[in-house]
Amino acid sequence: MNDFAFHAPETLDEALGLLAQHGADAKVMAGGTSLTTLLKQSLIAPGHIVSLHRVRECAAIEASDGVIRIGGLATQRDVELSPVVKERAPLLAEAYRRVATVRIRNVATVGGGVAQADPAMDPPPSLLILGASVVAKSARGERVIPIGEVYADYYETTLEPDEIVTELRVPAQPSGAAWTYIKYLPRTEDDYATVSVAAIGRAEGGSVADVRVALGAVAPTAIRASVVEDALVGQPATSDALREASQAVSEIVDPTDDPRGSAWYKRDMSVVFTRRALEQVLGLA
Ligand SMILES: Cc1cc2nc3c(=O)[nH]c(=O)nc-3n(C[C@H](O)[C@H](O)[C@H](O)COP(=O)(O)OP(=O)(O)OC[C@H]3O[C@@H](n4cnc5c(N)ncnc54)[C@H](O)[C@@H]3O)c2cc1C
Repeated sequence: MNDFAFHAPETLDEALGLLAQHGADAKVMAGGTSLTTLLKQSLIAPGHIVSLHRVRECAAIEASDGVIRIGGLATQRDVELSPVVKERAPLLAEAYRRVATVRIRNVATVGGGVAQADPAMDPPPSLLILGASVVAKSARGERVIPIGEVYADYYETTLEPDEIVTELRVPAQPSGAAWTYIKYLPRTEDDYATVSVAAIGRAEGGSVADVRVALGAVAPTAIRASVVEDALVGQPATSDALREASQAVSEIVDPTDDPRGSAWYKRDMSVVFTRRALEQVLGLA
């Protein structure tokens, strides 16, 4: 690990000032659950660490006008347990509940998770189908970015080095729709997913009225399966239709071989778990 200067500002403005001053030579540290590993393995070698552990802003979770506002410094455990999130977006509470262990979730933050951009993380598929946006602040101003435009590639985002994620804005789940988050874990319960699928759906009069599906861990970023959604909306909600529509995900996933499974296995499991998620949310399980 290289030597670095450690800064512990007490306000967001001070933190933004430090990032403006040191630019790409500085790295923000929130919970430190991923950053410490990157530093220890010398995968990154910043000259300055700007720790947010003394900053008391940006940790609230509130709702107004049908939108949940989750502070970027809220912990993942805060989201999992938040009555506001449980009531308005139970899918999101469940996605955060599935992250690693309670010890990790007690420390890991929402903003750190967004910026780390590991495609196997649990929250991204749910954030995609809920239509979440990220608020990123810098000394230059503020941007609101749709979550799908934040994830760029494996561990890469479109955030600038001087930006801090201060908020996630998540529209409430549609009322009357069923939801599920399936995390397929052939190894231990606290592992990253081999394949994950988040889905929301509603059938009306035997037809698919609304369906949203996204997958994690099977491409450089979490991906929304619009091809499946487009094939199903307005069609009869039958087992055969769901089975046929699910096949289309094998064309949009791009998995890699790793200790959690081979690429061909993950491709096959993407189809299987998409179908199971659809069956659950469309009442055919
Ligand atoms: C053992 C282990 C198991 C895990 N298992 C899972 C799992 O099953 N599912 C899952 O989803 N995740 C898992 N994770 C990942 C975990 O969710 C991330 O480590 C965590 O989200 C990062 O948050 P943090 O606050 O600790 O960020 P940090 O480690 O402090 O930072 C991570 C990155 O984000 C940047 N950053 C931090 N905060 C901000 C901010 N507010 N604005 C801009 N950039 C910022 C940092 O500069 C760094 O690049 C696991 C992690 C560990 C260590």
